[in-house]
Amino acid sequence: MDCSSLEAVLERIERACERSRRDISEVKLLGASKTVPAERLRDFYECGLRVFGENRVQEFLSKYESLKSLDIEWHFIGRLQSNKVKYIIDKVVLIHSLDRESLAQEIQKRAQRLGKVQEVLIEVNVGEEESKGGVKPDGAAPFLERVLEMENLKVVGLMCIPPYKENPQDVRPYFAKLREIKEEFERKVGIPLKELSMGMSHDFEVAIEEGATIVRVGSLLFGERG
Ligand SMILES: *Cc1c(COP(=O)(O)O)cnc(C)c1O
Repeated sequence: MDCSSLEAVLERIERACERSRRDISEVKLLGASKTVPAERLRDFYECGLRVFGENRVQEFLSKYESLKSLDIEWHFIGRLQSNKVKYIIDKVVLIHSLDRESLAQEIQKRAQRLGKVQEVLIEVNVGEEESKGGVKPDGAAPFLERVLEMENLKVVGLMCIPPYKENPQDVRPYFAKLREIKEEFERKVGIPLKELSMGMSHDFEVAIEEGATIVRVGSLLFGERG
């Protein structure tokens, strides 16, 4: 198995951490593995990658079954329909895409039945784009406060998918905005939020410089998708 793409990404993460004087242990690499077959995930697992994030429930369930024997930390990073929560709730460590009250209530209900506290991130639509999920930036704090009242949900941070920009430096203001929303909330409510899930193949180094704790890298690891 050729582990060079994983090694290259880890090396770039390390250098971005050095540049921004951050400890490498603060940044987790998530393999954004949509459309990548289970057997390729197994190869990456053997190279040492342990965290994978899936976007579609059906596809996730099939890979989850195939790779059950491996000690993978599964995250759900795609848009999530409320009626699909029940299929994933006992299988994922973190849901990155909580963006509405009805979904929060469904996760609360299903987690309670399982006796689980489900960790979630609030997705913020930092570019205020019509086509994307996420709460509006100024709706993030009020939504967060409502979710904090739900016993079987634990908000551990924020996530964003900013607008695509040719030059990754142009994405920086969006990453900074997510960090500012997090910091402002922490100041106001006094509850620390640990995670900032931001940065993809094209811009993860800039995201790390702006405080990312989880970078979601797909094509750079697994190759371009058809
Ligand atoms: C596909 C995807 C990624 C990874 O994108 P790449 O550009 O391939 O690195 C990250 N986050 C989400 C939510 C995705 O859907």
